[in-house]
Amino acid sequence: MTDIIRVAVAGPFTEALDYLPPANGPAPAVGVRVRVPLGRRERVGIVTAGPTASDLAADRLRPIIDVIDPTPLLDPATMALIEWAARYYHHPPGEAYLTALPTRLRRGEPATPGQSTAWHLTDAGRAAQPDARARRAPRQRQLLEALQRSGTLTPVQLAGIGGDARSVLRRLVEQGLAATDTAPDYGLLPGRADQPGAALNDEQQACAAAIRPTAGHAAILIDGVTGSGKTEVYLDAIARSLECGRQVLVIVPEIGLTPQLVQRFQSRLSGRIAILHSGLADGERLNAWLAARAGVADVVIGTRSAVFVPLARPGLIVIDEEHDASLKQQEGFRYSARDLAVLRAYRSDVPVVLGSATPSLESLANAAQGRYQHHALTRRAGHARPPSMQLLDMRGQPTREGLSQPLIDRVQSHLDAGGQALLFLNRRGFAPTLICHECGWLAECDRCDARYTYHRGRGRLHCHHCNREQRLPHHCPSCGSVDLRALGLGTERIEAALTEAFPQTPPVRIDRDSTRRRGSFEQAMQRAQTGETRLILGTQMLAKGHHLPAVTLVAIVDADQGLFGADFRAPERLAQQVIQVAGRAGRAERPGEVVIQTHHPEHPLLQQLLHGGYPAFARTALAEREAAGLPPMRAMALIRAEATDRHAPLAFLRAAVPLAPADDAVERLGPFPAPMERRAGRHRAQLMLLADSRSNLQAVLSGWLPALGRLPEARQVRWSVDVDPAES
Ligand code: ADP
Ligand code: ZN
Ligand code: ZN
Repeated sequence: MTDIIRVAVAGPFTEALDYLPPANGPAPAVGVRVRVPLGRRERVGIVTAGPTASDLAADRLRPIIDVIDPTPLLDPATMALIEWAARYYHHPPGEAYLTALPTRLRRGEPATPGQSTAWHLTDAGRAAQPDARARRAPRQRQLLEALQRSGTLTPVQLAGIGGDARSVLRRLVEQGLAATDTAPDYGLLPGRADQPGAALNDEQQACAAAIRPTAGHAAILIDGVTGSGKTEVYLDAIARSLECGRQVLVIVPEIGLTPQLVQRFQSRLSGRIAILHSGLADGERLNAWLAARAGVADVVIGTRSAVFVPLARPGLIVIDEEHDASLKQQEGFRYSARDLAVLRAYRSDVPVVLGSATPSLESLANAAQGRYQHHALTRRAGHARPPSMQLLDMRGQPTREGLSQPLIDRVQSHLDAGGQALLFLNRRGFAPTLICHECGWLAECDRCDARYTYHRGRGRLHCHHCNREQRLPHHCPSCGSVDLRALGLGTERIEAALTEAFPQTPPVRIDRDSTRRRGSFEQAMQRAQTGETRLILGTQMLAKGHHLPAVTLVAIVDADQGLFGADFRAPERLAQQVIQVAGRAGRAERPGEVVIQTHHPEHPLLQQLLHGGYPAFARTALAEREAAGLPPMRAMALIRAEATDRHAPLAFLRAAVPLAPADDAVERLGPFPAPMERRAGRHRAQLMLLADSRSNLQAVLSGWLPALGRLPEARQVRWSVDVDPAES
């Protein structure tokens, strides 16, 4: 018997691997990173157990190369969460661990925060008379005065002073008036708490009262119409949590983490705020992560992967826009940050708050079953009134590039009244199709079962599924005609139509193309917010969380694209999108109006949204899911396979079927080709599993998946499992 250490290492391993302790030095503790040999390479891994006895012969094991962390990087609660997630989502634990770590730690770099230099006064500096150097050295005088006012100066403050501040300070140091010292610098934002919160209304108070930071676990769903003051309730609960000395984790969708949100948090909360999202530089991410772990950050605002960040003293978790699809990772480790956050809160015995104006059907079902407390905020806070909504029947209407005359008239009247109009179309580019008017040829991506989108501004065709681009052809490759026409609507086309219809009011377009440059999104939003631009158009980048007080008209340019989607979740997504976009209207004193252009005004989904709002839609949708035996009433998993070979994915899944453990409680559908069979040059197929209980589904997956990797057909494909898939 040998004592071994178990190490989770990235790779296709369903368990941690066994290693011998390092040749010299003590055995590493659980939770530290180590470097281990793997094949001929070296990898960074996390110690998950040991030393423990192994039945493997010592001569078949290799020793750990070295131990990276002097003390555990991950605490037991964080490790348990990651292990749980790896098991539940059937993902290799080593990969799950690495997903949870910032890049630098993944690469084995030290877990130490950035350092910063600060300048402070010496006794001589305190006694010095700035006036004495007024004429000879005005800059020295200025900095000496600044130091005497504030005691210390940090790099951030120096940036505010500007110019040659550093070299001037160096001269003060040489004269013995100032000295420097270095300190860890986590790059946290200071909460200023310099603005009072609104006095909560009755509904908000009832909701806030349910969130009790020290009373143990509770899951609270805040189902509040847009502008009802959900964020105010979060802020109230967060402030109370901070008063109890607890940390708060706030998880938001990628696009929801805006400078406005951060500023609002800073202006209302005291304590230090850490931001965690994928757009940060590696060093910034590491700092924020370490600050959360050390308990130096009081509030952590982050996107999806922040759900794994270690917290020294957790007190509350908030998930904003809990319905948002970006909370579920769509590739690799396909975890749901929302579901893991709820689990994490339960295990840490702290409250979790899920907020949305359009809660996911999953969360509404959890509320109906008593697992979540359901709190509705039915009224807009302050003076804002709910917007009026109406359908604009497009049938037979003359249109100008997709804008009907009644819509153009409506925009005009809002502009005349001094309002702002926002037009929403969830498709960027000029047109989704380019067609030859002579022979009917369509510009199709040769790697996907999809058409190219025509981007007029860039003069290119772009496939939104695989990112392939090509120059716009000037003649049809099939018949040679030059009569190539754009078919259908994209934001660029609406922009052109608006520019023509309203020459006095240039529109601002907000989508992923127009905001590629760093800071351009913020600039555009700024122009929209100050009212500098009165016509705003864009994709769902506009739909979330932004407060645009002067918008009085919201137009949904084309509701039809979502009405007949193949995915059973398409209606839910359309309803959420319509309600979220509509919520941008009339958020301040002026009443708002929402118009929806459609060729199907009688469609039940639109009728329901119009007359009963999201709650009416959700009730019907849940009943339909129940009748169809779909989530959230049943648990679902997809096994996906893809390959460059056309037949391999289906062949693999067909070979997999007979290996499944027999269990009548788990229904199997397929294998089928995926809805878009070919994507990025790969053919795709999938197999769907449905079960009344999660544990049955999990038992079948656990008994089945290990056998799949051993199938000879598995070598021809890439395959993966998606538990609780968000898209099919
Ligand atoms: P949500 O998060 O539900 O969209 P917010 O919390 O952003 O709503 O509130 C919408 C607007 O109403 C904000 O300008 C906010 O300051 C204001 N507000 C929120 N609660 C109140 C209140 N109780 N009294 C007055 N104004 C409020
Ligand atoms: Zn493509
Ligand atoms: Zn042609």
